[in-house]
Order: sequence, then C-alpha cells, then structure tokens
Amino acid sequence: MATVSVKHHQMFIDGKDVDAAEVYEIRSPATEELVATMAKGSVEHADAAVDAARRAFESGSWSRKSQEDRSAIMTRIANRLGEELEEIIELETCANGATVRQATGFHCGLASPHFLYFAEQALTYEFERAVATKPYPTHSVNTIVREPIGVCAAIVPWNFPLVLGIWKIGPALAAGNSIVVKPDEKTPLSLLRLAQIAHEEGVPDGVFNIVSGDGAEVGARLASHPDVDKIAFTGSTAIGREIMRLASGTVKKVSLELGGKAPVIMLKDADLSYAIDGALFGCMLYSGQICESGTRLFVHRDKYDEVVAKLVDRASTITLGDPTDFDTDMGPVVSGRQRDRILSYLEQAKADGATFALGGGAPDGDEFAKGYWISPTIITNVTNDMQIAREEIFGPVMVVIPYDTVDDAVAMANDNEYGLTAGLWASDLEEALEVGARLRAGTVWINNWHAVDPALPFGGYKQSGVGRELGPGALDEYTESKHVHLDLSTDVERLPFDLLVSAPQPK
Ligand code: NAD
Repeated sequence: MATVSVKHHQMFIDGKDVDAAEVYEIRSPATEELVATMAKGSVEHADAAVDAARRAFESGSWSRKSQEDRSAIMTRIANRLGEELEEIIELETCANGATVRQATGFHCGLASPHFLYFAEQALTYEFERAVATKPYPTHSVNTIVREPIGVCAAIVPWNFPLVLGIWKIGPALAAGNSIVVKPDEKTPLSLLRLAQIAHEEGVPDGVFNIVSGDGAEVGARLASHPDVDKIAFTGSTAIGREIMRLASGTVKKVSLELGGKAPVIMLKDADLSYAIDGALFGCMLYSGQICESGTRLFVHRDKYDEVVAKLVDRASTITLGDPTDFDTDMGPVVSGRQRDRILSYLEQAKADGATFALGGGAPDGDEFAKGYWISPTIITNVTNDMQIAREEIFGPVMVVIPYDTVDDAVAMANDNEYGLTAGLWASDLEEALEVGARLRAGTVWINNWHAVDPALPFGGYKQSGVGRELGPGALDEYTESKHVHLDLSTDVERLPFDLLVSAPQPK
C-alpha cells in the first residue's frame, strides 16, 4: 500500500508552527505503519491559543474586516482546498483509513464547496436588520445586529475531520470570530493544512489556531476555559454530555453534534432495484463510521426474506482492501480500539440470539493480518430493544427488523434515544412524505442517503445534539443578537416617565 512519507507536524498557534516537548505517532489503520509524528499539545498550548485568539479578536484584524474582504479571503481558501485536493486526501486518509474513492467524493471532496458556502454567507448573511416596532413607531429606529461571539473553540472527531471542522470554522470565520480547533488525536493533518492555507490567503495571526492533544486534557480545557465564549463539539453523546457540563461553569454557548442510530423504513411498495443498494449505501459507506448511517432497517414482514436475501447478495460484492486503491469499496475501521468495540457488540448480539446473515467479524486472508478490519455484517433475528439495535456501533453493521404495520415501523423507528437522521425507501411518495413527517430526526431522507448540502441544516433531535450546523441559520450559532434602540425624539413628554415619578396631583 502507498503511504505518505513520515513527516513531523507541529501545531498552528498565533500564525506560527509550534512544537511540543511531547511527540506522538500517527499510524495507518490499514497497515499499522507509521505515517507521521505530531506535536502533543497540552493545557498550556490550549491557553496560548485562546490568548492569541482573544488578542486577534480584540484587535479587529478579522472581526472588523469588511464582509467583502472576509468573503474574498474565504473564497480563496475554498479554491485552494479544491486545488490541493489530492494532497489533502493523502493527509486525511493516511490516518482515518477512508478509501481514496470515498475521500474524493465525500470526506475531502466536500471541503471546498462547503467552505465556499460560508465564504458566500460572509457576504450575504443579514448582519443588520431594521425592524418596525409597535410601541415606539414614530420616534425610534430599532435594529437587530448580529455580532461575532468572540473566541470560539471547536472539538472535532476523526471520521470527517476536515469537513466537520469546516462546519464550525466556516461560520465562525464568516461571522468575524477567532477560533481554536482541537482535532481528534488520530487525525489532525488535514485540518492543520487548512489552517496553513487560511494563513497564506490572508487570515491574520491568532484568528485560526490548531492545538493537538488528548481530549480529556486539551479538549476539556477548551470546553471549560473562561475566555472561550462558545464551544462547538462533534463526537459521541457521552463526551457531549461532559462538554455541556464543562461549559456550564462559564455559561458558554454550546452546540453539539452527537451520535445516531438512524432508522430506515422500507415501505412495502419500495422498488427493490434501487432500495437494496440505497439501504446498503446508507449503512455501509466508510465502514459505517458515520453518525448519520442508516443502521436499523425496518422491512415489512411479507417482504422480509426477499429483502434479506437481496441485501446479502449485494453486500457480498463489497470488496475490502487497500484504501489507497481507487477500486476498493471498503477500507479498515479507524483503530484497534474501534475494531474491538465493534467485535464486542457482535459477540453480545450473538449471545442475545441474533443471527449473522452475512459477516460477523474480521475478514480472513493474509492481507488483513495487519490493520483493523470488519466485514460487512447483516444481522437478523433482532428486536428493536436488543443492545445491537439500540446502541451506536460505528461499524459496517446493519440490523434488519420486520414490521407488520407502518404504525409499528414508525413507533420502533422513534423508540431510540438518538434522533439525528432517519429515512424511507418508498414508491408512493405521498405516503413517504406522510410517514417521514412522523419521524423524530433532524434530517429525513426519502429514497436517498448521505445527501448533506451546506445550504440545508444538519443536527439532531433528542440526544443527538443541540443546535444546527450548515443551512441559512448556521451563522446564528456563531453570532450574538443585539437590539439597538435609537430614539430620534428629545421630547421628554412622551417618555413614560410616570412609571418612575408620578405626575403632580392637582390640589
Ligand atoms: P469522541 O466523543 O470520543 O471524541 C470526539 C472528540 O472529542 C475528539 O477530538 C476527542 O479528542 C475529544 N474528547 C474526548 N474526550 C474529551 C473530553 N473529556 N473533553 C473534551 N474533548 C474530549 O468521539 P469519536 O469516537 O472520536 O467519534 C465518533 C462519535 O462522533 C460517534 O458517536 C458519532 O456518532 C459522533 N459523530 C457525530 C456527528 C454529527 O454530526 N452528529 C458527526 C460525526 C461523528
């Protein structure tokens, strides 16, 4: 397998590369080979980055730049992300194991258009709006101003470091904030490259900083830091709860994009010639390591055996192997820890009485002796209350559960603590829309999956998160709302002064 040459990478703080006394290794999940070394940041580095971000914010070097200038710089950054796609793919996939095909179309290919969306938002977002009001109609002007919050921090996971980073960095910069980003320990390289590109294209020192390091140390410091005004987190629900707790000490603004266990309802009339491929695409892409993956498939009992047989046939054609080969369908899972976690879920499912219609463990073969591999797995004899159907596995694992009525399917779909995405495969689109309206999730896909567009909001109901990323409201999450009341009259008579001092009573 091709690997990038081993290079040492430093953090990016206050416009400079910053090394650390401690260094750690980044290894390929496909080969376990060393692909890079990285400076390991500490609480002191987090503090230095927050200080730099605060100084930059107060200086106005970015926060008071015109919308036109911010947008122009961000457009150039977006263009560079497109021009350097090949290098960026290498930096990201050497550490998270995404296949080069998926990274081209998805992981890294989306980076440029998504960043461009925020470059456009820098120009078109309504930073100021005059509002006609009833109480003071004639003699005042009332304006709602959206101002940058100040210093933002972002904590990002390993599965889509660049794009999930951009979902935070893009709106933060478009609105005029400074930001400190802590990537996952395993995958800092593509985000580091973005910070360097941003600096080269004119983002001033201190505005965009990257600090590496452990979540429990550096991440926790950013979440609790008294000078961080907003924390944006993507990751597991368990750590999301911890972020909320840490942020509460200074009542920071918090946005959370957390886990999922998406239900997929295959209605009885679904056209299996595309619904089978669609359901597999929704579940198995990037070895199922996507928060939005459709992992619980509900199939009408009359169609159950046919659907399972077709799923197994089609999923058997998914090839595992070298993620740097454009023809490979599925690469490794991200780490030994993740592989073992998936395997322990599979063992428990077996103990609970589930049947593996396909897969159920690591693939055989010398080529899988190194790295962390799980075969595409399809599980039957499952009920919606079993652990394998309730908890987020984050692996290429689909459970297929029969239903008798659409009401049953909807009830099972909604009976879960998560509510990030949900979806349907159907031919009767009217019925599909009616059923979709009953699903409790931030995104409902009908006859498609993984359709994420920067112009449309993304985020979770229930314990899948707080707030929304992307969409026309994305900058709302990175701005404060200020009401400015400008009184044009100096006529003291019309002040409701009698609320303070009663008018003299006639004697
Ligand atoms: P994780 O929660 O373990 O880690 C995410 C990030 O949090 C990492 O950068 C990590 O270093 C940091 N972190 C860990 N402990 C911390 C602490 N105590 N304080 C502060 N930061 C800490 O998640 P993961 O395993 O890396 O990612 C997978 C999870 O992310 C899944 O649950 C998945 O559903 C979720 N996810 C959600 C979305 C979404 O948009 N909703 C997208 C991708 C992934």
